[in-house]
Amino acid sequence: MKKLKRVQLMISITPKVSIALAIIACIFYIINMKASAYIVIGAIVILLITYFILSLTSWRCPHCHQYLPTKNAGKITKCPACQKLIFEDKKSDGHHN
Ligand SMILES: [Zn+2]
Repeated sequence: MKKLKRVQLMISITPKVSIALAIIACIFYIINMKASAYIVIGAIVILLITYFILSLTSWRCPHCHQYLPTKNAGKITKCPACQKLIFEDKKSDGHHN
């Protein structure tokens, strides 16, 4: 369950971090620090690859294994497909009194 929390954090912050890094890369490029700009661009590429791998492999509902939306990922607590809480502990299953 804790792993999914980490995945959610990555999915929610990676687009923002990528935009921030892209701005930094532009600044480096403008002030003629092209080598630094390319390093930052490389970091963005690595981030985006990680993002896509996570969203395809780990960002899924633990109950029905459907893909979870990447839009507003940080606010998701319920699976849109089966309506179950995605961070709910499985041990609560089977206690209905
Ligand atoms: Zn589900």
